Amino acid sequence: MDRAVAAARRAFDDGRWSRAAPAYRKKVLHKLADLIEANALELAVLGVRDNGTEIGMALKAEPGSAAGTFRYYAEALDKVYGEIAPTAPGILGLVHKEPVGVVGAIVPWNFPLMIGSWKLAPALAAGNSVVLKPAETASLSLLKLAELAAEAGLPDGVLNVVTGAGSVTGEALAMSMDVDVLVFTGSGGVGRRLLEYSARSNLKRCYLELGGKSPNVVFADAPDLEQAAKVSAAGIFRNAGQVCVAGSRLLVEESIHDEFVEALSRHAAAMKVGNPLDLTTNIGAVNNLTQLEGNLNFVTKAIEEGAEIALGGSRIMQDTGGYFMEPTVLKGVKPEHNVAQNEVFGPVLAVTPFASDEDAVAIANSTKFGLAAGVWTSNLSRAHNMVRNIQAGVVHVNTYGGPDGTVPLGGVKQSGNGHDKSMHAFDKYFDLKTAWMQL
Ligand code: NAD
Repeated sequence: MDRAVAAARRAFDDGRWSRAAPAYRKKVLHKLADLIEANALELAVLGVRDNGTEIGMALKAEPGSAAGTFRYYAEALDKVYGEIAPTAPGILGLVHKEPVGVVGAIVPWNFPLMIGSWKLAPALAAGNSVVLKPAETASLSLLKLAELAAEAGLPDGVLNVVTGAGSVTGEALAMSMDVDVLVFTGSGGVGRRLLEYSARSNLKRCYLELGGKSPNVVFADAPDLEQAAKVSAAGIFRNAGQVCVAGSRLLVEESIHDEFVEALSRHAAAMKVGNPLDLTTNIGAVNNLTQLEGNLNFVTKAIEEGAEIALGGSRIMQDTGGYFMEPTVLKGVKPEHNVAQNEVFGPVLAVTPFASDEDAVAIANSTKFGLAAGVWTSNLSRAHNMVRNIQAGVVHVNTYGGPDGTVPLGGVKQSGNGHDKSMHAFDKYFDLKTAWMQL
């Protein structure tokens, strides 16, 4: 890690990329996007073999979105201007935007290529050097990306991928005195440590994208309850629930509670759990055994607290040696229950009825998280009011999931303090420098 950070620093300081013409940086990043597209299947399969995501989803979410992200910031990089301040006569005040230097990036295993690219593309486009640490269980697609970056003409030392344990390699990156900005996606526990490492080292800025316990609120006046049930099932169970924005709490208006839970469970039961490399699979594998055991413990504890199983609840297909779990729906969950308060990061949905709009908002906001939410209603005023009142970085209305790279993704409360995607994310990778000149 020390050698990688030193290489990144050398590359930044000698200007081989940081001071290269924007047109050149743009060309290299577009070329990298071309290579990601040309190698999409290999990248997706490498990722799936590592992390167990169903290939149908991985193809779109991983190489598909990675290529799009590199193109977005390749196009953006020569449209970032400085400013001229409105000064008194005789003074010229200029605000320059400069790359920050060496960016450290630490990413999780659920969508390594997509999330890795959300950090790498804007960081590189801005002219920085990067040292990236993938998750222990999902590094292959990011190592391949580094090879493709070299093939695209990214100069040596500008992008460094270092694998290893979080507590060793990750800590070394986060404690480095020579990393200027740290960008992270992962759990709140590790996010907290990174802030400590920053305080104990060089006060590097840390941007954290953390977990969620996202409420998906269904009103009786939803335009199409059957569609709402189908999309809500996909919104929690795709990638076996290992999606940061997964709608893991279902809040249903009392009058439609039973019929809606039945419809959602029917759609969930029709989703095929199976071999992640099979294109017909809807729900792939849980990433690792610890995660699977954690998911099952959440179910056991929920039942102890008084919840009932409406669907699933168990490990399946153990004979394959894989970590598979049924899509699981728990009803009768109270807002204060463990499974309603803490992130499972697995295929487990907690269902709670609500009585009124105010009740729905109070339950929706009753956790420490604030990443995503969903609202299903055909009442425009209600939709706008829910968007205003729910504490979340993204609120979906009459859909769940799918915002593209043009809009920011980031949490409020303990779900994070920075955004990925869009021009808002670009700002993290620039410093502002003022020039104040007497004319
Ligand atoms: P994790 O926090 O365990 O690990 C994330 C990364 O941090 C890994 O690369 C890991 O090696 C590294 N790490 C672990 N300990 C470290 C340490 N002491 N110092 C430095 N680095 C360390 O998370 P995970 O289990 O890989 O991913 C699941 C979590 O990520 C969930 O909480 C999920 O909600 C969150 N997530 C958030 C988003 C988002 O955009 N907000 C997106 C995806 C996942």
